[in-house]
Amino acid sequence: EVYYQPCVDLRSNEITGCEALVRWRHPVRGMISPAEFVPIAEETGLINQLGEWVLMTACKEAVNWPDQIRLAVNVSPIQFRSGTLALKVIAALAASGLSAGRLELEITEAVLIRDDETALAAMHQLRAIGIRIALDDFGTGYSSLSYLKRFPFDKIKIDRCFVTDIADPQGSAGIVEAVVNIAAERSMTTTAEGVETAQQQQLLRELGCSEMQGYLFSAPKPAAQIRELLAGHRQGPAAGAAATRRRKPVAGAA
Ligand code: C2E
Ligand code: CA
Ligand code: CA
Repeated sequence: EVYYQPCVDLRSNEITGCEALVRWRHPVRGMISPAEFVPIAEETGLINQLGEWVLMTACKEAVNWPDQIRLAVNVSPIQFRSGTLALKVIAALAASGLSAGRLELEITEAVLIRDDETALAAMHQLRAIGIRIALDDFGTGYSSLSYLKRFPFDKIKIDRCFVTDIADPQGSAGIVEAVVNIAAERSMTTTAEGVETAQQQQLLRELGCSEMQGYLFSAPKPAAQIRELLAGHRQGPAAGAAATRRRKPVAGAA
């Protein structure tokens, strides 16, 4: 199954998009986390089919969302190296009718470690289609600042480990601020992952981070619940204003 987690703009508090996160509902073992089965799918090569299914399923779902809501899909380094990712993306966009500008692929730096040239070519191909590319889990692994110079990312996702202790005296606020500044200087946006408290949200806002994701706003949810959430979110302030406008003439007439 595919669950979706909203991403929220820290200035406007609007939902800007949702990230697709795959789950396995096992008949005996219950819900199994992708952290458990994605690495196995990568080892066995099944990740290509699994990833293609997630991409197709999520694009077909996102086409029902309000037009300004983007879809982010995680892509394994193995899919990236397969050489057919751009074709799979084109197929998913064509089958769903989702516009390329609404799709963002999340890749980790593991994509870039080996075979820079192939990765770079694939990224440019995807860019040419009009899709956006985010660097996931930034700051974990072998983060090299030179990646940011060589690869055309639209967004950096700041890993949860820097958000968890952002409020601590010896915590990661300085690191987050540095990443936000680097991103801004290269016209990239930043999304903080794993935001769980209002205090973390406030600090991230003050540090200039663009967006946030996390349990504070919403955990990943099944498609139907996300549809409701998006509909309610859109109708929220706007519907309130429309209702006020509608009531006025009635009140005047009375
Ligand atoms: P990720 O891409 O870094 O996704 C964020 C993970 O953090 C998700 O775990 C999400 O449920 C969790 N999370 C979100 N907000 C919070 C929070 O406030 N607190 C805490 N503690 N956790 C939060 P999930 O869904 O278990 O996914 C784990 C990883 O599995 C993902 O990490 C991603 O790397 C991978 N994954 C998930 N779906 C796919 C997929 O379709 N394809 C590929 N290749 N990988 C996937
Ligand atoms: Ca991700
Ligand atoms: Ca991440």
